[in-house]
Amino acid sequence: QWIFLNGEFVTKDNAKISVYDHGFLYGDGVFEGIRVYSGNIFRMKEHMDRLYRSAKSIMLNIPYIQEEFTDLVVKTVERNRHESAYIRIVVSRGVGDLGLDPNNCRGANVVIIVEPLAIFPKHLYETGLEIVTVATRRNRPDVLSPKVKSLNYLNNILVKIEARLANVNEALMLNDQGYVAEGSADNVFIIKDGVFYTPPGYIGALEGITRNAVIDIAREQGYEVKEEPFTRHDVYTADEVFLTGTAAEVIAVVKVDGRPIGNGVPGSYTKHLLEKFRERVVAEGVK
Ligand code: PLP
Repeated sequence: QWIFLNGEFVTKDNAKISVYDHGFLYGDGVFEGIRVYSGNIFRMKEHMDRLYRSAKSIMLNIPYIQEEFTDLVVKTVERNRHESAYIRIVVSRGVGDLGLDPNNCRGANVVIIVEPLAIFPKHLYETGLEIVTVATRRNRPDVLSPKVKSLNYLNNILVKIEARLANVNEALMLNDQGYVAEGSADNVFIIKDGVFYTPPGYIGALEGITRNAVIDIAREQGYEVKEEPFTRHDVYTADEVFLTGTAAEVIAVVKVDGRPIGNGVPGSYTKHLLEKFRERVVAEGVK
């Protein structure tokens, strides 16, 4: 396995960063996750655009222009020769002293890792997930925008911890007003009477690239998709629920807070969408 580290390809054992890196000390940095399907990189431009937007928002200078960096990602994928894989890009503020001030840092650390990844066991894609809603709230968009995919993932981690404590694999967090926001690292959709609903960006969620792809695919299939706020009640009473994310892909949810969704098995709209999604990711990706 070859890891891109600041301009060089190194082995896993040699991929090391200083303890003075501000990504490590303070979570100061940004990241991206991208999928490779059958050798094709899915929606690469959207992911790279988001990476640069995240960096700009926190005044982090990525030491490559976007086209250059995109080439480096492609090169790292080629070097690792996986048919299907997950790409993790990390750009941290870099090495500085123990003060918070980013001006003390001597330039970003840039890492690209490419490896196979499955965050949920395979059988759950057939049976569907059981999830819960948790006490952890999505941070408000005016505090630290959830649109920034930053290295500060503590509330997402707390969501995962709460899910594990409830003996399930994933959970949904609400925003500060009680509207459903998203999962720990995935967006949520509900389907009611054949209409797809997903929370709008202003609710406070990451604008998922898988989410946007699913919206495109659903509309192409003739389904109506609405970006509207909804509550836990709407989730409990939905006909179908599913999650989307680069790591999670598209996965049905069959139980929420102990309430079976629909018939308690993955629904027909979700299954249809998953099938179309799988066709598209291969067809659409960039070699
Ligand atoms: N929400 C959060 C908090 C995430 O970290 C992710 C993962 O990337 C998503 C949603 C899903 O976004 P995407 O489909 O772009 O991977």
